[in-house]
Amino acid sequence: MSLPTYEVYAIRYARHDRTRGDNFIVRDPLHDVPMPMDYFVWLVQSAARRFLVDTGFNADAARARKRVFLRCPIESLAALGVASNTITDVILTHLHYDHAGNIAKLPTARFHVQEAEMAYATGKYMTYPVMRHAYAVDDVVELVHGVYDERVQFHEGDQELAPGLTVHKVGGHTAGLQIVRVHTRRGWMVLASDASHYYANMRERSPFPIVLHVGHMLDGHRTVERLADSPDHIIPGHDPEVRRRFPLVRAGLDDFVRLDVQPHAAAPAG
Ligand SMILES: [Zn+2]
Repeated sequence: MSLPTYEVYAIRYARHDRTRGDNFIVRDPLHDVPMPMDYFVWLVQSAARRFLVDTGFNADAARARKRVFLRCPIESLAALGVASNTITDVILTHLHYDHAGNIAKLPTARFHVQEAEMAYATGKYMTYPVMRHAYAVDDVVELVHGVYDERVQFHEGDQELAPGLTVHKVGGHTAGLQIVRVHTRRGWMVLASDASHYYANMRERSPFPIVLHVGHMLDGHRTVERLADSPDHIIPGHDPEVRRRFPLVRAGLDDFVRLDVQPHAAAPAG
């Protein structure tokens, strides 16, 4: 039996103006330039299955962290013809505030999380402000309620969630960051999430500054490359370049792009 193919969409729901120095662990203050950040969730669906990858943050979190909020990532699914109450499976790549908010808006979904991520987000390292800064305790507590309600499915390492769709723990950025490998009509794609915020983090082997383990993050770049059919099949977590390289779902919907089709341009060369 041949593998199913999935459609893959990126929805941009927020953005933040920042500079290059904010996005790399090795800073070059003499050559700092604007390098804005986009915030996405991703929809992955076949004829048989539908997965939401990450759940974004809400307007309150955007205000608190001074991000520009464009739209509720969950309500935005309607623009793709998807009612949010039909989302049965959510893959949380990790539990940072920009990936794991809005849980209460998905009251019937099951959440796929790496066990190492939950342990990290509720463990001793969260006693350090620098480690917990990108987590929102209310989001984490919401997910703990999900554990007690038997709505969280824990994974350890690599796991197939459906034919043609697997998650892979890479860690690095956080203890339990997982990436998503998905079979599409153009081959195997990888939603790298924050294994590589920008194309350039991976290309230059230069991690984003929020990182638990630099070595694991660098190994994670290799894992992403190994699991994807080509550089064109890798989708970084926060790069505005994604919206320039891939076609809009339809004219006028500027923040909704289709990823399982050929990009307009090749990925920036290494
Ligand atoms: Zn992120």
